[in-house]
Amino acid sequence: ESFQDVDMGEIVMGNIALSRYTRPTPVQKYAIPIVKAKRDLMACAQTGSGKTAAFLLPILSQIYTEGPGEALNAAKENGKYGRRKQYPISLVLAPTRELALQIYDEARKFSYRSRVRPCVVYGGADIGQQIRDLERGCHLLVATPGRLVDMMERGSDGQNFFNGSYYIHFKPLPLCLFHCSYLVLDEADRMLDMGFEPQIRRIVEQDTMPHKGIRQTMMFSATFPKEIQILARDFLEEYIFLAV
Ligand code: AMP
Repeated sequence: ESFQDVDMGEIVMGNIALSRYTRPTPVQKYAIPIVKAKRDLMACAQTGSGKTAAFLLPILSQIYTEGPGEALNAAKENGKYGRRKQYPISLVLAPTRELALQIYDEARKFSYRSRVRPCVVYGGADIGQQIRDLERGCHLLVATPGRLVDMMERGSDGQNFFNGSYYIHFKPLPLCLFHCSYLVLDEADRMLDMGFEPQIRRIVEQDTMPHKGIRQTMMFSATFPKEIQILARDFLEEYIFLAV
């Protein structure tokens, strides 16, 4: 049992070595081959199980070794390529700012010396700064659902805000998910407990998000109650269920 059992390409293998992870945790051992085999995944795993690397490593490996994936090809065929910007290839939704930042930190670690640029957006911080950061190009976006919906809404047709002295017009945002080949819902049960289901559905069911079966979707949850089963049914395509 070692990370060498699955070849994830030079960049990921090098960054695993730098991270000093020596052996995969159980969720990593089982989830990595499933994600590499391009299957949708519903994984029941606790915090601290190593679930973050279980989805980040194979996603980054796929992006490095195979390019941006199906969604980009589909978008091109449909003539929806849009502006030549660097849009997210992978979107990770997480319930809290703390978790989003942790995922972002791991993503930075594992994308070191690669062309992949991770970004993170969450509520309670300056949205303008986060927009500017996204505009520099983002391939792997980690987001809390509320903030992402805010950005989508501001981006739809522009909006005026009165700041006390002037009206400020927000330009449409370059937040386009046509190229999003990988979607992860982390701690899905916690996101539902926090009341994020409408926001999650708005994001996943919006026009620019590639359909299930075209994108690859992974859900992680500590528990598997009815509401999560329904979300899995709606968002995942012939998924593999993993409990560790
Ligand atoms: P997570 O469950 O993804 O939040 O990970 C919990 C902690 O375990 C994080 O601090 C990770 O950096 C660490 N971790 C994850 N996978 C491994 C591994 N294979 N070996 C050592 N530490 C790990």
